[in-house]
Amino acid sequence: MASRLRFLGSGDSQGVPRWWCGCSVCQEARATGLNARTRPSVWVEGSEQVLIDVAPEFRLQATREGLRRFDAVLITHAHNDHILGLGDVADRARWTKEPCPAYAPREVLPQLQQRFAYLFQGTYLERIPFRALEDAGRTFAGYAVSAVKVPHGYNGWSYAFRFDGPHGSWAYMPDCIGLEDLEPWRGLDLLVLGTSFYKEPAPVASRSVYDVTEAVELVSRLKPARTVFTHLSHGIDRRKPAPEGAMYAHDGLVLELP
Ligand SMILES: [Zn+2]
Ligand SMILES: [Zn+2]
Repeated sequence: MASRLRFLGSGDSQGVPRWWCGCSVCQEARATGLNARTRPSVWVEGSEQVLIDVAPEFRLQATREGLRRFDAVLITHAHNDHILGLGDVADRARWTKEPCPAYAPREVLPQLQQRFAYLFQGTYLERIPFRALEDAGRTFAGYAVSAVKVPHGYNGWSYAFRFDGPHGSWAYMPDCIGLEDLEPWRGLDLLVLGTSFYKEPAPVASRSVYDVTEAVELVSRLKPARTVFTHLSHGIDRRKPAPEGAMYAHDGLVLELP
């Protein structure tokens, strides 16, 4: 069965509109909604249902997409925009008694425990056991998953995931800047890459995610067959075309996976 990738959220850490902002993109997002974006999270639909990251709007995203259950959750890193819906997933697992294991890189697990102490005990932990992704010993929706630590600029580090399946390979790298080791990311049929702004004037040391101009340069070196930019802030206006060879994600976008 072919797998699909559904974007539950395609926004950056503040979403679009930023609640406090009056820029033209935020105004458009309020008025007609082409640029309206919730925080970043995707759903791999296939032989299993796999959620990658759990945005603060998870409950609203799941309601919007008619989504009722997952077999597993993968977490890239423990920043708010990627994990704060975790309690909603845990509540489902606890109330329905259907377990839904959560996998994160080993290094991320203590941070999750610190943020969600109540989930790491009793019936919560039985129903949503947290496991090190490195020890998963299983595939997810038919893909072998590799978690690779990537630089996240001012915010330190994050992980990105590579998915290798019988028909091809793809990667989800929402939060990265200044990637040095390109080898894990060769030979991709699809790269989903975070690009918060089109062109950021601030020095790289004060930033945490690629801008579009830098991403285009990275893509020219990695040469994935297909590129989709996500984790988009109010600095990206979908009324303007994406750079040649790439496209902007939007909430609700569905892609066929290799
Ligand atoms: Zn993020
Ligand atoms: Zn704005």
